[in-house]
Order: sequence, then structure tokens, then C-alpha cells
Amino acid sequence: MTVVAEPIYDSDMACIFCRIVSGEIPAEVVLREPDVVAFLDIQPLADGHVVVIPRAHVALLEELEPAAAEALFRAVVRLARPVREALGAAGTTIGVNNGEATGQTIPHVHVHIVPRREGDGAGSVHTIFPRGARRPLGEVGEAIRRAAGGLT
Ligand code: AMP
Ligand code: ZN
Repeated sequence: MTVVAEPIYDSDMACIFCRIVSGEIPAEVVLREPDVVAFLDIQPLADGHVVVIPRAHVALLEELEPAAAEALFRAVVRLARPVREALGAAGTTIGVNNGEATGQTIPHVHVHIVPRREGDGAGSVHTIFPRGARRPLGEVGEAIRRAAGGLT
């Protein structure tokens, strides 16, 4: 008997995106790779709004294994041009809500690719933030380098 090794992924079957990965819930899939699936957002912000997800159930970007992170970002890069061209868009806004406090509603990492048009009325990433920074850049940079174990 031939045993075909299937990749084993941590999944949470309460998770909508894990259920899309397993095929239990239908989706308009645009890319299927060993570690990544991409499909159309069910409530698109614009025509062609795609979400790209790792097959592995991981809530936060920083919890991704390096190989899964690479596969995810490669897929985003691979899709950016086709999504833009297929929709005749001028550009794409690409973003991640990373954590519940940021507005992440599904705790399974996903990268949004949203086609953009001149005058579509949506702002840039800058427009989602009030100007709230207070601390000197040097102090903040030092804190992050220390937390990251001495990045230079
Ligand atoms: P976020 O708010 O960053 O967590 O984004 C979650 C996204 O998933 C939203 O844009 C939803 O419209 C989308 N979404 C939720 N359920 C589905 C589904 N079954 N198929 C496709 N997209 C979905
Ligand atoms: Zn999941």
C-alpha cells in the first residue's frame, strides 16, 4: 500500500478560514499552494479584494513559522500584479489587521489585497491613524532594537 504523506497543519475547525482551507466552506479561490490559499473576500471593499492566508492556523503574523511567512509573502507578491491587472486598477492597498485591537475579526493571519482606483475615495494607510506619536524616534528605536535582541 502506498501512503501519501499529507502535510499536517494545525487547524481550528471553529475558524472560518481553516474551514475554507479544508474545503468545508466554499470560497472563490484564486491561488492554492502547499502552504497558502488566496480567495475573494466575501464582503469586498472593492472588486478584486483578495485575502491571502497561510494554511496553518496562526492568529498573528509574528507567530508564523519562517517557511510559512516566506510562502505567504511570496504569494502576496505573486498576486499583486494579476489582481491589479485583472481589475484594471491603478494600484493595490495591501494590509494586515494584526491582532483583535487592530480590527482583526478572524484570528487566522490574512493579508488583504485591495485594488485601488484614482478617486475611489479611500485613503492611504496613513489615514487610519490619528497623529498620536509622542516619544523621540531615538528612544523608540532603541526600545525596539533591545526588544528584538540587538538589531542594528
Ligand atoms: P479582518 O477584519 O482583517 O479580520 O478581515 C476578515 C475578512 O474576512 C473580512 O474582510 C471579511 O469580509 C472576510 N471574510 C469573512 N468570512 C469570509 C468568507 N467566508 N469568505 C471570504 N471572506 C470572508
Ligand atoms: Zn484558522
